[in-house]
Formats: sequence, C-alpha cells, structure tokens
Amino acid sequence: MEKKFFYGLTIILTAILVTLGLVHHHLDKKAEVYAPVNDGYVTMYSSDGRLCRVYPDEVETYKSLGWYDKIEDAATLKYTDSGECIVVFKDDTDSFFKTDSKWKDLYDVSTLMYDANGDNTRVFLADVDEYLQKGYFKAPQTLDPNMPMIAITFDDGPSKEQTPRLLDICEKYGAHVTFFVLGSRAEGNKDILSRAAQIGCEVGSHTYSHKQLTNLAPDVLDNEISSTRDIITEATGKPPRALRPPYGAYNTVVSEKAKAGITLWSVDTQDWKSGNADKIVEHVLSHAHDGDIVLLHDIYAASVDAADRFIPALQSRGYALVTVEELITSRRGSMENGTAYYSVPNK
Ligand SMILES: [Zn+2]
Repeated sequence: MEKKFFYGLTIILTAILVTLGLVHHHLDKKAEVYAPVNDGYVTMYSSDGRLCRVYPDEVETYKSLGWYDKIEDAATLKYTDSGECIVVFKDDTDSFFKTDSKWKDLYDVSTLMYDANGDNTRVFLADVDEYLQKGYFKAPQTLDPNMPMIAITFDDGPSKEQTPRLLDICEKYGAHVTFFVLGSRAEGNKDILSRAAQIGCEVGSHTYSHKQLTNLAPDVLDNEISSTRDIITEATGKPPRALRPPYGAYNTVVSEKAKAGITLWSVDTQDWKSGNADKIVEHVLSHAHDGDIVLLHDIYAASVDAADRFIPALQSRGYALVTVEELITSRRGSMENGTAYYSVPNK
C-alpha cells in the first residue's frame, strides 16, 4: 500500500489559510491546526511548501530527511493588525516580504491584556477596545513576581515640552515608568510630577543640580538630596523611595545619606548621544529583558518618540512595565535605603 501522498503547493496554502482565518481570535488553538493527524497519518512540511503525510512511526525518519512536523518550523507565519494570518514557506520568505509590508510578526500586531485575576490573553490590536469593554486591562492590576517585568526610567527632567507627552504615552498604554527628576527643574513643574504620580508612575530623586555627589562637602551633599526630597514630597504627597545619583557615582557616604534605594541601571540606551528614535527603539528591544532597569532621558524628543514605539512592543512581548519601586518590592519584599540596585532578576 502507498503510504505517502504529495499535494500541490496551491492547494495546501489555500487549505491552511482558510483554516487559520477561522482561528484568528483563538491563538491558543494553533497547535490543533498545525499538526493535524487525520486517518492515522501525520502531516509533515518542507521549507519549499510541499506537504507530506506519513505514518506516526515514520516521523523521525522524515525529520532526518529535512521535513518538519510543525508548519511553524517550515514556514514563517505573519499577521496583520486585525489578525489575518498568512503562511510563507521559508524558501519564499525574502521575495514575499519585499513585496508586501502589511504582514508583520505576531508581536507587532497584538498585545497582552489582563483580566481581574491577572491572567493574560493575547489580543490583536484591532480588538483592544472590545476587550477593554469586556473588563480587561492593558496592564496587570496586581503584580506577580514571576511575571516578566522591566522598569523603564527617565532622568534629568521634567521637561515642559517632553514629559507631558511621555505621560500621555504612559497613559495610552497603561505603562508605569520612573522619573528621576532634578530638583532645580521640578520646582517650577510640580503639576507634571503630580500627574505622573496620579497615573501610577514613580517620581524619584536625581538630586537638585546634577553634581557628582562623591566630591561634595557634607552640607552641600545634604542639601542636594533633602531639597529635592522636599520638592517631590510637596508635588506628589510622597517622599521619593529611589535616588539615582548623577553619573551613577556613589560611595558609602552617599548611601548613608540617601534615605532611598540607590537606583542604577542595567541597560544604557545612550539616547542622549544618538538622538535617534530608531536607534533607541532598536537598543531597548534588543537589550531589555526581565528584571532590567533601562536608562533614558525625558528631555529629548527622540527618547519620547522612541517610548511610543518600544513601550507597546515590550508589552506585546509579555513584559509588564513597572516602576522601580514596584519591581523591587514585588521581587525583594521591600526597597532598602542605601542599597544599590542595577537590575532585579527573579530569584
Ligand atoms: Zn542625569
């Protein structure tokens, strides 16, 4: 008896596309679609789009001949914002995507949304409003320490032009970020700080005038820290829990006087140097992982433009965007005065 059947590429693609069209709201059912076993056969795929049905005991033999038992391994799946899906076999990938740019990776066209229990669901961008109406949230309402999370931080502000724009972006995506503000700039912009705190962002201290703290006389050091603490407390109703020393420079004296966690960083975007939103987005997306603290500055338009792109991209990859305090307290129980934090991996 003949065991193998080969089909033409056109028929296969049509069948797969029809099936995928039916499941675009139920991504979790993918596996049922891609590895069907019908009438005792297993469907296998080649990188040039051929399909082959073999008996289960032949699967390993076929794998050794270069066939795949999952279509994801033989082909690239691409999606549109509304959840249409297309399958392009590996040998055709380059030529196909040169001609049609509306097809993107799943992460670029969908995002995670959370229910009241904290469970997440991947939702296509076109369906976000519908899920909001159903009571889903763009960000988790309670933090599970095991959830992948990243703390995005912005130094040297606030800026009258850029910081409000950044707050709009945080509000739009339900993202929490941390601002390490200079007392000298915060003095005339308390309304910006107060709004940041109201939408769940954190306001930390970057000292009053950005001096290198390790060189200062004790009374000057005290004043750099305490004056800024007072301004933040007045603006937000809460003293800062985190201090970022200018230039990342600290010593035991600074740690003792900080009355806050010393918050450094593990990903430096160098946004001040490039001033280029594309480069900043690329840097964040290729370097930021679970537990990282990412350094940017909210006084540059390019950094804020970049945030409007990397924030939804990180969320769509499954990261909760949290403040420094949220990251540290959820994973370490509390944030200790004088302790230096660079990143906070899940233990
Ligand atoms: Zn700075």
